[in-house]
Amino acid sequence: MREAGMAEEASYDHVLTSEYAVLLAEEFNRNPVVNDEAAFDLHPPPPPIDPSTLPLRPPIVTIMGHVDHGKTTLLDTLRSASVAKGEAGGITQHIGAFSVPVPNSVGTNLQKITFLDTPGHAAFSAMRARGADVTDIVVLVVAADDGVRPQTKEVIQLVQKDPDVQLIVAINKIDKPGVNISKVHNALLVEGIQLEAMGGDIPSVEISGLTGQGLDRLVETITAVAEMQDLRADHEGQACGHIIESKLQKGLGPVATVLLLRGSLKPGAHLIAGTTHAKVRVMNDSTGSPVKAAVPGMAVTVSGWKDLPGAGDEVLEGSEQDVKRAAANRQCKAEERAMMVDIDAINVQRRLDREQREREETDQHEITIETEKPHELRLIIKGDVSGSVEALVSAVQCIGNESAQVKIVHTSVGEVSESDILLAKTSQSMIVAFSVPVSRSTTVLAAANNITLFSSKIIYQVIEDVRQRVASLLPTMY
Ligand code: GDP
Repeated sequence: MREAGMAEEASYDHVLTSEYAVLLAEEFNRNPVVNDEAAFDLHPPPPPIDPSTLPLRPPIVTIMGHVDHGKTTLLDTLRSASVAKGEAGGITQHIGAFSVPVPNSVGTNLQKITFLDTPGHAAFSAMRARGADVTDIVVLVVAADDGVRPQTKEVIQLVQKDPDVQLIVAINKIDKPGVNISKVHNALLVEGIQLEAMGGDIPSVEISGLTGQGLDRLVETITAVAEMQDLRADHEGQACGHIIESKLQKGLGPVATVLLLRGSLKPGAHLIAGTTHAKVRVMNDSTGSPVKAAVPGMAVTVSGWKDLPGAGDEVLEGSEQDVKRAAANRQCKAEERAMMVDIDAINVQRRLDREQREREETDQHEITIETEKPHELRLIIKGDVSGSVEALVSAVQCIGNESAQVKIVHTSVGEVSESDILLAKTSQSMIVAFSVPVSRSTTVLAAANNITLFSSKIIYQVIEDVRQRVASLLPTMY
């Protein structure tokens, strides 16, 4: 053993494996403690080579803006353009991100732009809440016929808080007759956005997501901004990235889209994300074509996960042993946290039982009923993909005030199950089924257990329902 330890050379910037570190510590008569969690939470040190010599990577772009201003249409047009220009067979699947080739005529070394395929700031905030600050550029879509609206302002505030994100304004729907673009420029100025057209430094492009007008200019502008950002990443070494979304797929089991930010990812690699791990089996791009090696800025679906990872989770590659040990360690901690939620649920039940007994004893039912209402709206959230669950959680958890608020008891991907209904019963929660079908038997079971089950595909409906329920928990003022 000692010989093996001595044989390995360590320079000042060399990262030791835990096995070698243990050997080394023993060599110096020290008692080593291996903390895999700490090892995995440490970001690898910067590469010893000059970062400016690394290859360029595609910028990662998120499209945001007010509802109905044309985000989805723009993404659809960009996506179908990417298929038309790409080599593969024409059909794109929603995997959470797709790449658009930059035409040679733009005269850049940058070859691709990666768009995150989930519009809206809820998804962006959810990713950020998980520490997944992956966006380099935000394209703020403002409909020329509608101007600056509440969500436009929210996006501006979000971007202003993040110095690493560059803003580009896309003034959309310019194909509509009678639109007044200078009115939009002025309205943006009022919000502190000084467009280049107004002598400021924020680029803007006039487009129609519907007809495709101006999209070449948009691609050029994104390319120019990305060149200024000089986004580079090591294409060699262990993979590092983030989960964009995940779902169960028939025949493949848990499948997750990984957005690679550093290193190279190949089938057979061992990955950890959150509390789960994978040996990469199949990797595909957004056209469904198999990928032999993913490079930074590329999003690929990865199968081979033990369980579903969550959107925003950091993905790291390691040896099979390190990855499994760290995942087991994280799982242990997650179970401890889940147990606390269970204990919390039992305590709530006990409190309610005790209050019920006290009510009966004092015979003061009518007088006390108002104060006995629970002031927490407990939620179990089920969704179709982890991205939408994350988006919903981040949107509803800030609803309320100190008197009445939302508490998320449990979230997971998939249809509402019997165990969700049992958990709802024990924890006095309601169930939100977001974009997942609810079977008749589930509805009946929920009703038989007096569980509120709210089902919708529209995030704003869910938010509104939750808002109203939280408001109804507020104590009545006399
Ligand atoms: P989102 O809510 O921001 O994703 O908006 P959508 O992409 O769903 O678009 C809302 C509506 O605006 C739809 O009826 C679209 O057809 C329409 N729309 C989107 N982009 C354009 C555009 O460039 N021109 C016109 N005339 N209509 C558009």
